[in-house]
Amino acid sequence: MGLTFVHDALPGRVRFGEGAVTHVAEEVDRLGGSRALLIGRRGSTAEVTATIGDRLGGRCVGWFDDVAVHVPGELAASAVATAREVDADVLLCVGGGSAIGTAKMVARELGTPIVAVPTTYAGSEMTPIWGTTSDRRKRTGRDPRVLPRTVIYDPELTIGLPPQVGGPSGMNALAHAIEALYAPGTTPVVQVLAREAIVALATGLPRVVTDGRDLEARGTTLYGAFLAGGALAVAGTSIHHAIAHVLGGAFNLPHAPLHAMLLPHTVAFAAPAVSGALAPAAEAMGVGDVPSGLYDLLTRLDIGPGLTSVGMPASALDEAVDAVVAAQPISPRPVEHHAVVTVLRGAFEGTPPAA
Ligand code: NAD
Repeated sequence: MGLTFVHDALPGRVRFGEGAVTHVAEEVDRLGGSRALLIGRRGSTAEVTATIGDRLGGRCVGWFDDVAVHVPGELAASAVATAREVDADVLLCVGGGSAIGTAKMVARELGTPIVAVPTTYAGSEMTPIWGTTSDRRKRTGRDPRVLPRTVIYDPELTIGLPPQVGGPSGMNALAHAIEALYAPGTTPVVQVLAREAIVALATGLPRVVTDGRDLEARGTTLYGAFLAGGALAVAGTSIHHAIAHVLGGAFNLPHAPLHAMLLPHTVAFAAPAVSGALAPAAEAMGVGDVPSGLYDLLTRLDIGPGLTSVGMPASALDEAVDAVVAAQPISPRPVEHHAVVTVLRGAFEGTPPAA
């Protein structure tokens, strides 16, 4: 049979390049915004966020800074209340997936359009997926209202991203691109995006980690993150994201390192069922075996040596395995107990993926 697919393309305007952020006020005006609420942390991204606030001049009506990873429910509610209080007509989120995720929870409730200025490689800005956590459980869903209307990618804003944050964040983007090759909604168009994303990330990321001031490498990596987010948004997710979702919510683990350390093991699990789909990834990375190539990249980026290094107690292995098996996530292979033990033990201990 010839080609058959359904490709559900998503809208969105992207402004990419060094200095792109200088156009932020113009982009807010384009959406008819006159009362922008800034959403971003005061910590590491405070300076960037403040500068963006200054560029908005009188259009900036407030700054919500209570941003935390996995968007706790009470912080999402507080962000919604702030947006209502200041009568925001546009949300300008600056930072990683946590800041963008917070803005999404406001947009989901109030329908306010988002302008996103990402400073990590998480890729949330390209997706209509929201997520929030309460009672140790992460809930996610799709809603077109949370998809940012405009995304401004400026590689200069990522210069401050230290290797210990940038490396795992880039691996998180790689997880999006690789899983997009075999996720249920994959299409030939997604596969082109994903392949290009993998080339950009595999080329840019090691350079970014070696020399943080290499602006060209920053641009290449950010471009890869953009493509990877777009691929994930259309293809959806599969076993890798499902396991990360369960562990992230239950054990409050840092998002990007969790994805990074799981990836070689989840791909090793999926590989026997999706070897054809993974072939472009092998070619893009210039490796024979994708799980081993990912593990080598982790080592090169000095990530790890395993989930215990980011606070996952080894004693939690059984509980984690049971939670994954009970969830029966979408997967190219049956999610059986012994296979999940292999995946999680490898990720816990940081050992090479099983052949
Ligand atoms: P994050 O937003 O928590 O940022 C990680 C750390 O990097 C923070 O301490 C932050 O202050 C710092 N940081 C960010 N930019 C920086 C910069 N330029 N310089 C220095 N420090 C900087 O983490 P993340 O990994 O970007 O995002 C994780 C969150 O995003 C999770 O909640 C995850 O569920 C969500 N996410 C959602 C989607 C989606 O499609 N909905 C996709 C990916 C991630």
